[in-house]
Amino acid sequence: MIAPKTTKELAAIGRRFYARGWALGTSGNYSAVLSRKPLRLVITGSGLNKRELAAAQMIECDDRGRSAGKRGGKPSAETLLHIEIARRRGAGAVLHTHSVWSTMLSARHGDAGGLSITGFEMLKGLHGVATHEHRAWIPILDNDQDMTRLSAQVARTLDEHPESHAFLLRRHGLYTWGATLADAERHVEILEFLFEVIARGEAWRP
Ligand SMILES: [Zn+2]
Repeated sequence: MIAPKTTKELAAIGRRFYARGWALGTSGNYSAVLSRKPLRLVITGSGLNKRELAAAQMIECDDRGRSAGKRGGKPSAETLLHIEIARRRGAGAVLHTHSVWSTMLSARHGDAGGLSITGFEMLKGLHGVATHEHRAWIPILDNDQDMTRLSAQVARTLDEHPESHAFLLRRHGLYTWGATLADAERHVEILEFLFEVIARGEAWRP
């Protein structure tokens, strides 16, 4: 049974991200964990316009990304990635955006395999980070329309970088997570701020 509060929060987050320009059109997808054993998620449906995202458009799915609730419907195409993150990070919520800045940085730094961020006060908004001297590594994975193959790559990346709070898909967007929806939303806000600062800085001083 999905708590109405959870679906309302997911829809509200989606509308806030749309308003910030972080997930326009049908881009982006958002999920929260409903149970661990068995693993069940509630996630945005496939192909929804995020401007008017509503609680009734959230879909319950099982640990293989199949619709599992009474309501039915088609879960987001990227559901398998959410499942992999929920499983490997013990995350309670996973949020995925397609902002201009994350897309630019993922294109520019993709060949390096990731982006290193250090020296910014805003880093302290990431879970467990207490100083601006922290070095955040944001792995960048090649984009792929084969979600089974991409979710395996996500699993490997999460295991190789246990300290990372997020990753980027090349020329695609950001994935981050948190223990709660509020934690995950804060991570999006912190990272999108840092991405914009870095991308604007690089444009100014190439
Ligand atoms: Zn996406």
